[in-house]
Amino acid sequence: MILERVLSYSKTLLQRGISEGDIVIDGTAGNGHDTLFLAKLVGKTGHVYAFDIQQSAIDSTKQKLVDFINQTSVILDGHEHIPKYVNQEISAAVFNLGYLPGANHSTITKPDTTVMAIEACLNLLKVGGIIVIVVYHGHEGGDIERDGLLQYVSELPQSSIQVLKYEFINQVNHAPFILALEKIKKL
Ligand code: SAM
Repeated sequence: MILERVLSYSKTLLQRGISEGDIVIDGTAGNGHDTLFLAKLVGKTGHVYAFDIQQSAIDSTKQKLVDFINQTSVILDGHEHIPKYVNQEISAAVFNLGYLPGANHSTITKPDTTVMAIEACLNLLKVGGIIVIVVYHGHEGGDIERDGLLQYVSELPQSSIQVLKYEFINQVNHAPFILALEKIKKL
């Protein structure tokens, strides 16, 4: 297939933006798949800060990171509090919005806190860095978060941030899409 699937393309973008030794953020650790992917990319000299508000997500993420303990911080707190934990320049951040697969669907990411977290990441992001957001919007409340987020990113200053939407537009059932924000100049 020439056109990459959404999840695969999110990883391609992260791979292109991350080098060994980088500091990066996983804003929605969930079951830790992305955190592990990031930990492998930054290597022993880099660091991944991963956030989630559910203890079960923190536990599953930590289980995946047994070989990467020194280069990861798995934090039980909302991503809206990123500035409390990270004050170094980051080269990338990833968010997978929605609910934790296999858990209660009532705990979901929310528009206001998601935007606060993305704003915090944009402030920490180096020029040439990237934020990748996979937007799941088929669940209850997902449409509100999607619309709030689209409004926010579409108003970012184009002289500093390039905003990409990567979406298959002829799929049914609310297929997820990517928003990718690349910093091209200081804000
Ligand atoms: N990337 C994850 C993986 O690899 O398994 C999946 C993430 S899942 C779609 C979304 C996660 O966001 C859930 O685990 C949920 O608990 C978490 N979440 C919801 N609100 C949050 C917040 N304010 N801060 C951090 N995580 C949050």
